[in-house]
Formats: sequence, structure tokens, C-alpha cells
Amino acid sequence: MKPIIGITSSTQKHNGLDSVSVHQKYVDSVITAGGIPFVLPIGNRETAKKSAEFCDGILLSGGEDLNPVSYDETPHPDVGKVNSKRDDFEIALVKYTREQKKPIFAICRGIASLNVALGGKLIQDVHSQLEKSIKHYQEAARGEVTHHVKVEKESLLHEITGQDELQVNSFHHQAVGRLADELKVSAKAPDGVIEAIEGKSRNPMMLAVQWHPEEMAHENEDMHKLFKAFVQEATKP
Ligand code: MN
Repeated sequence: MKPIIGITSSTQKHNGLDSVSVHQKYVDSVITAGGIPFVLPIGNRETAKKSAEFCDGILLSGGEDLNPVSYDETPHPDVGKVNSKRDDFEIALVKYTREQKKPIFAICRGIASLNVALGGKLIQDVHSQLEKSIKHYQEAARGEVTHHVKVEKESLLHEITGQDELQVNSFHHQAVGRLADELKVSAKAPDGVIEAIEGKSRNPMMLAVQWHPEEMAHENEDMHKLFKAFVQEATKP
């Protein structure tokens, strides 16, 4: 039985109307990895609970900045567009998915959602708050790699990819700050920015990356392996 993978979405204007939106490449990457994608609209606590019960795994997709209110901070001037309803929905979704002991794979904004949902905080603007940061918001095309990350040896990320270093794309101006207690670092950029995190416990699997593997998965075996490992975990009874 192929597992049902719930993919979180955003709200975007389409023909002037608020609409449910998710980039097609998340959907394609889940299908290629053997999962059945289900797009989850931003809802309320009840829809988050039902989504966690119904799905076999949750993919937290990319998108807006988290509202600093969600992690009890005041906003830095460079905080971008936020969507508080999405914050509330995803934080509830992480909580209920944890209760269900189902795997979570998180991408870009998703790494922030996961960390904040479990009690962590964020660096609100890497380029102004971190001295000597490298360029994390690339102008290169989405599938192009622009910096590398060093993978921690004793990590799930290392186990899945078998690599000490990964070449990644980079479309973020925020990053993981204080890490939630139950998470640990799995990869860092050359400037020390946290680029991947995972659960200290492997059960249930929680893996989050700051880059966009879905943009590379069709031609990059390591990125495909991330989706594959997640979908396989979601297949387990
Ligand atoms: Mn980066």
C-alpha cells in the first residue's frame, strides 16, 4: 500500500481570490518516491488533527516567514510576509502528527515550523544578524546549487545520503536559531548556519532541511533519496 503524504500549502491570490497553493514539484517528488500526495489546506485545530490521523506522513512545505509572535519574539525590520493562520495550523499539525507517531519531512519554511512547533526559535534575518554570513538567498535558478553543507557523521541525513557534504540550493533569509530540545543539527553551511535538523529519537522520523530538495530531486540522486526515505518510513505500519 502506498502511503498518503499530506503536503502543507499556502494561500495565494489567483484571479484576485485567496486560493490554496502548493508548488507542483513537491507533489511530483512525493509521487516519484512512491507516495500518494494530498494537499492540506490551511485550516483550524480540528482539520489539523484529522489531517494527522488520515495521513501516513506529513511534508511541511516552503513559504512565508513565521510570524515572530509564534515564537514569542518581536519582529526584526527585515521579517518578510507572514501568515499567522498557517503558523497556527502547522504548529497544531506537528503536535498531532507527533501524537500519531508518524514521520515528518520539512523543507525550507518547514524547518522553521518544525523547530518552532517543538519549542525552538529562529534567526529572523541571517544576512543582517549573522556576521560574515554567506549568500543564502540565491539569484541563481531554483534547481542550481550555490553552497555546500557539511553533514554530521552520526545523523539520519548522513545515513540516508551516505555523503559528508551536500551541494544545495538556497532560498532563505531566516534560519534555525535556538534548537528545540528534542531536535539536533544534521548539517551546517560554511558560515555556521544550521541547514538541516532531525529528531534525536528516530521514532517517529523527523527530518528538516533548509534548502529545496524538491527542485533537484528529479536529477539529483541524494535529494531523491530524502523523499524516498521519508515515504518508506510512512509506509511502515
Ligand atoms: Mn542556505
